[in-house]
Amino acid sequence: MKKNLSEKKDKQFVFTTQSPTTKNCPYCGVKLAKIPKRKKKCPNCGNYIFVSKGKLFTEEEKDIRDWLMRFEHLKITRKMFNKKREKLSSQLGLVASVNDTGENILYEINKQGISEEVAEWKKSGDVKYVRWRTVNDECVCSVCRKRANKKFLLSEIENLYPAHIGCRCYISPIVEL
Ligand SMILES: [Zn+2]
Ligand SMILES: [Zn+2]
Repeated sequence: MKKNLSEKKDKQFVFTTQSPTTKNCPYCGVKLAKIPKRKKKCPNCGNYIFVSKGKLFTEEEKDIRDWLMRFEHLKITRKMFNKKREKLSSQLGLVASVNDTGENILYEINKQGISEEVAEWKKSGDVKYVRWRTVNDECVCSVCRKRANKKFLLSEIENLYPAHIGCRCYISPIVEL
């Protein structure tokens, strides 16, 4: 009984992948008299239909696909994205936005990435210090701005980086020859 309850709780948020439509509204399913060629409001439900390569998407579906495409080089699958969103939503108790889910995934990838790099640099024996780099635009937060171009001990960087969710900074090794 108890197990069932907790399983139910875990399944509080389930995200599936919406298949694009071609003739029907991707929200309400109504058959469209005129197939839209670009972003258009559904005459039945009033939601905006997005068009890509002749296929019709909901706004959310389009946003997720755009996000995955933007970070294609990181090889994040749709399944991973949905799983992360389910977990995050359960923690929040509400539906996590596409953007928040994406930022959380990037945070974890950076966290994992720095551990791997630090291990490599330690092994090489040539790196004692690293330098904090920001992307140097006006969106860099005050925390990261203070760290910009500063030297940090290799041994302490894992605890500092990434500075926060949404941190776009990166770390470069200072190689001693
Ligand atoms: Zn509709
Ligand atoms: Zn940062």
